[in-house]
Amino acid sequence: MSTPRPAPKPDKSDSATIAAVLRSAAARLSELNDTARLDTEILLALALNRDRSHLRAWPERELLPEEQERFRDLIEQRRSGTPIAYLSGEKEFWSRAFKVRPDVLIPRPETELLIELALAFIPATQMADILDLGTGSGAIAVTVAAERPLARITATDLSTGALEVAQENAGLHGVRNIRFQLGDWFNAVQDDERFDLIVSNPPYVADDDPHLSQGDVRFEPALALKGGIHGLDAFRIIAREARDYLKPHGRLMLEHGFDQAKSLADLLTEFGYTDISHHLDLQGYARVTTARSGKRV
Ligand code: GLN
Repeated sequence: MSTPRPAPKPDKSDSATIAAVLRSAAARLSELNDTARLDTEILLALALNRDRSHLRAWPERELLPEEQERFRDLIEQRRSGTPIAYLSGEKEFWSRAFKVRPDVLIPRPETELLIELALAFIPATQMADILDLGTGSGAIAVTVAAERPLARITATDLSTGALEVAQENAGLHGVRNIRFQLGDWFNAVQDDERFDLIVSNPPYVADDDPHLSQGDVRFEPALALKGGIHGLDAFRIIAREARDYLKPHGRLMLEHGFDQAKSLADLLTEFGYTDISHHLDLQGYARVTTARSGKRV
């Protein structure tokens, strides 16, 4: 007679506890990139309409069928490449949460270098006129507006969808010192306006850059990314026009690709700018170039 076996343990593999669905979804997303666990937690928190601490506190909680459905749907969208920020509808920039939608580029940490330089140039105690060309989500304009409440900021974009997002972000962060203007670069600005500072993170990726057809960028607006054959089209327009809109002591500050500093400096020199300097990101690449209009005072 065989010895009686203990009753088999219930098979937990297809249970739908928080811990179990996190494990299996993270395995599915791990083919995509190395932030699968974090991404999975963000998406589950979103599906449950809770924050991530809830997941840690209740690993054994069973998901309701509709929660499972919502989570599965989010994971599948992520698997097909939709950026987390478009799924959650927000992205942090300079310690503030910004709304994002596919109308706008998702704010990048490297753009914080542009913020640092802008804030260093505009003292907190001083009134200043600032122009942000191609504001997108408004990350730059809203951050500078919040950090420099005395400044008057003009934020432009060619996309009405983007301007709506930027306006929502201004409202969300309670800033009232931004004027939003629709239009193509300087067409959005009156001819007689003059600025202490003109900033832009324009589209600067070369049209045939393979990076545009890979990963998350595929879902971002081409209008915000593609800068012509060499990625320099927007810089040429901005460099040509900005000198007419800068006050004599004013500065132009442009974010650019890691390999564009030299070409951009050449362009700025061609249009008579002086004091051209490159600023390095945390990886040591020149990613922002600043210059002053060469016009005589
Ligand atoms: N840094 C972005 C990227 O490489 C490009 C942003 C831009 O063109 N302004 O995806």
